[in-house]
Amino acid sequence: MIVAVASGKGGTGKTTVSAALVSVWEAPVIATDLDVEEPNLHLFLRPEISETIKAFLEVPVADETRCTYCAQCADLCQFKAISVLGETLVTFPEMCHGCGGCLSICPEGALSAGTRELGEISWGRADGAAFLMGRLRVGEAMSPPLMRAVKGKLNEMIAEKSADVIIDAPPGVSCPAVNAVMDADVILLVTEPTPFGLYDLKLAHKAFQPLGKPMGAVINRAGLGSTSVYDYCSESGVDIIAEIPYDPDIAKAYAGGNVITEVSDNLQTLIRNLATRVRSMAKNTAKNNVREALHD
Ligand code: SF4
Ligand code: SF4
Repeated sequence: MIVAVASGKGGTGKTTVSAALVSVWEAPVIATDLDVEEPNLHLFLRPEISETIKAFLEVPVADETRCTYCAQCADLCQFKAISVLGETLVTFPEMCHGCGGCLSICPEGALSAGTRELGEISWGRADGAAFLMGRLRVGEAMSPPLMRAVKGKLNEMIAEKSADVIIDAPPGVSCPAVNAVMDADVILLVTEPTPFGLYDLKLAHKAFQPLGKPMGAVINRAGLGSTSVYDYCSESGVDIIAEIPYDPDIAKAYAGGNVITEVSDNLQTLIRNLATRVRSMAKNTAKNNVREALHD
């Protein structure tokens, strides 16, 4: 089972919820930080990293002695990462998405594969959980290629350990956030009961709804602010599956890099109940999928 913990904006408690879920998860689990632009799950889980590797993207390198300036590569590239200006060929490796199309289309074999460093992938263990994270290189603008590389490693780890996965997704609703939740069985939308929380919850709900995954809302700092988030959830059919109370002790735990299940037995029970609820959402979806398959 893959659970993605997402939010329409940063600072709502997404990583707090991810770390807390990992801490109570009963089955083998891989805690995965896919927020590669600003990973911080490790600050709470404090993993022992066993290996770190660099990830690269294949980008074209031109040999102008072979190039006939036919411009087929430039016409093919939808990202404008390669251009032909008269008798000059220019590549923009930082704009390349690594599709490899130009390399395969060049009739003269004038393009070969070079590399652009995307960042690092690290893995190890955090107490009972396996741990995996990506970190984008400073100056690298595109996170999806590194996320793909992290997911590749994640698939290897799932095959090795047959474990569940809890993903700390990037905040927002842009391409990296959608990329992080698209393989999940359940998406948790972490929000807070404020006008900003409502605005971002609506964005996230609408962005992820077309994926057809079961979604549930986790209200963080419950008791603070307005009821509009509750109204929205009720009107739009989003189940509120946990409410984490507004509590200075939780804020202190967060500031100290501690997992909130360490704050009190009540919080531990609350997060355990959340984990049970998530499991049952995933099971119901699996059952429905089997029913639909039998119907087909
Ligand atoms: S497709 Fe090959 S030969 Fe044509 S412009 Fe590009 S690099 Fe040069
Ligand atoms: S590999 Fe793909 S994205 Fe990169 S320059 Fe070639 S066609 Fe463009």
